[in-house]
Amino acid sequence: MCGIVGYIGEQNASKVLTEKLKFLEYRGYDSAGVAGFFNGELKIKKSVGNISCLEKKLMTEDSFFYGIAHTRWATHGKVSIENAHPHISFDESWAIVHNGIIENADFLRTELSKKNICLKSQTDSEIIAHMLALEEGKTNIEKFYGVCKKLKGSWALAVINKFDSNKIYIARKTSPLYFAFENNSALIASDPTCFARHEYYSLKDYEIAEIEVNKTTVYDKNFNEVTPQKLFLNDVYKVDKAGYDFFMLKEIDETKKVLKNLTKYYASKDAFY
Ligand code: GLU
Repeated sequence: MCGIVGYIGEQNASKVLTEKLKFLEYRGYDSAGVAGFFNGELKIKKSVGNISCLEKKLMTEDSFFYGIAHTRWATHGKVSIENAHPHISFDESWAIVHNGIIENADFLRTELSKKNICLKSQTDSEIIAHMLALEEGKTNIEKFYGVCKKLKGSWALAVINKFDSNKIYIARKTSPLYFAFENNSALIASDPTCFARHEYYSLKDYEIAEIEVNKTTVYDKNFNEVTPQKLFLNDVYKVDKAGYDFFMLKEIDETKKVLKNLTKYYASKDAFY
């Protein structure tokens, strides 16, 4: 459920991001939002309901050239604008989107409240933005690594920092996250359907990365630089309702086929690389 998209490039990022979020609609969501920095100012728009509601809120003057976006499937806190992602740090220097569940969120919330940081949402995700603003480190990627090490649970994360324009930091554990490059742009997504016909890369569990258009660095669990796993999507597969009224009906009908494919996949000797 839910999704993440990120974009750095020459096109209007808010437009690209909402277009790409539509590829992820089939996964289900209750609210959506985008964030980007433009002329050093954080712009953030969120809406409850479908992506067309978000598009209405994104006026042309909200254009920016890089940013992150999210479709939320609430696990902690009700469906509301406050709980929709992106979340921002108390000093407005970091914006984050998160898929997954932070299992030690209560403990981390208490730690933040001891430092007089007030949270605006009920989510398990907002803490990550504040932790980034408080984290010590020479570089932003070091700070990001430091924060990820303190998390327990599952996460696909994309974060941006006000003082580090044109970079998106990403991390994953359990929840999937991918990135790809094309026509002078970098794209991040939680589902490769967004990269149809592209060569793309996958993050492995506990890996984190600093994504730029012309340079990307990926680090493993011990903060050693590693080569990212390259994948290729041969067929364009845009997920559509295929004549069904609802994605759910289509997925129920597909259960037999999916189970057959899964059994075949896991029974094969190459299943675990
Ligand atoms: N656990 C987070 C929340 O409730 C993220 C949910 C998601 O994966 O969309 O906001």
